[in-house]
Amino acid sequence: MNINSFKDKFLNEVQFDYELARFTWFGVGGRAEILFIAEDLMSLSNFLNNKPKELNLLIIGAGSNLLIRDKGFKGIVVLTKKLNKINIDENHIITAEAGATDADVARFARNNIRGGLEFLLGIPGTIGGGIKMNSGAFGSEFKDVLIDVKAINHSGKFRTFTNKELGMNYRSIKISKEWIFCSARFQTFKDQKINIENKMKQIIALRREAQPTGVKTGGSTFKNPVGKKAWKLIDKAGCRGYNIGGAMISEKHCNFIINSKKSTAQDIEDLGEYVKDKVKKTSGIDLHWEIKRIGTK
Ligand SMILES: Cc1cc2nc3c(=O)[nH]c(=O)nc-3n(C[C@H](O)[C@H](O)[C@H](O)COP(=O)(O)OP(=O)(O)OC[C@H]3O[C@@H](n4cnc5c(N)ncnc54)[C@H](O)[C@@H]3O)c2cc1C
Repeated sequence: MNINSFKDKFLNEVQFDYELARFTWFGVGGRAEILFIAEDLMSLSNFLNNKPKELNLLIIGAGSNLLIRDKGFKGIVVLTKKLNKINIDENHIITAEAGATDADVARFARNNIRGGLEFLLGIPGTIGGGIKMNSGAFGSEFKDVLIDVKAINHSGKFRTFTNKELGMNYRSIKISKEWIFCSARFQTFKDQKINIENKMKQIIALRREAQPTGVKTGGSTFKNPVGKKAWKLIDKAGCRGYNIGGAMISEKHCNFIINSKKSTAQDIEDLGEYVKDKVKKTSGIDLHWEIKRIGTK
């Protein structure tokens, strides 16, 4: 299908030239050429089956790990937030769609008195973003609890990947970028509700203590280098509280950049690059971005 017929066919299901800042935690970013909010997996599959190959695709979950550049994204942005069903089967396996929030999945497991997913409460993303990033907190990561993942590619073909096939490592996975995660199955274990609730309370308390809350941020900006903490290297480089435009290194957690005063995406990216440079000069270590920077430069 060519681009014009595609646009005509999905005229009532897409938005054109749509501002993306509202879909990211940083609250910055330009516009999407085409925005599609998937209502369910069938509509996503139908959409992808018709998508012209030459149009780029970007998936946004909760936008908590994304820096979308000010010039926006040329192509299609798909939002997964309505793919948010969660259920449990007779073997106590929990299945969650990609747009379900990690916190909702943690609470669902608690309500069903199943342990192992408490750490999800500490990650402000969706299941899809969590798989892509192999996100983790408080000693657990997606890799530890995932059984398998149902995914669809850019042509609408479905496939299931086992945990092993995903090739998950620290904040990364190995499978091709063409796969969009639809749903995931999680292993849980029997526990007492009071234990689960206590773990969750502890997670909330630890987050409040260690991280800035109620601010526009993308979480950890850089991955921790092997055996080191990125925040310590950034602190040593003298960057705590440093700002470029409206973007600032958090006083509370040096690996967090905050959009403190109407920052642009450019301010945030420039600040990150400044910090990288300073750390290289003071510690000789190369930091690598954990936040995904996407869009036209
Ligand atoms: C305050 C704060 C605290 C945080 N704390 C933590 C933490 O403790 N541990 C941690 O690991 N991270 C943390 N993060 C980062 C972030 O929450 C995680 O990386 C999260 O898993 C991202 O999920 P998301 O849905 O927001 O993904 P998005 O930011 O929307 O997207 C991230 C990447 O995943 C891709 N993606 C999203 N959905 C899909 C899908 N369905 N299929 C394929 N690709 C997809 C996107 O295209 C993009 O490349 C924090 C962020 C913030 C703002």
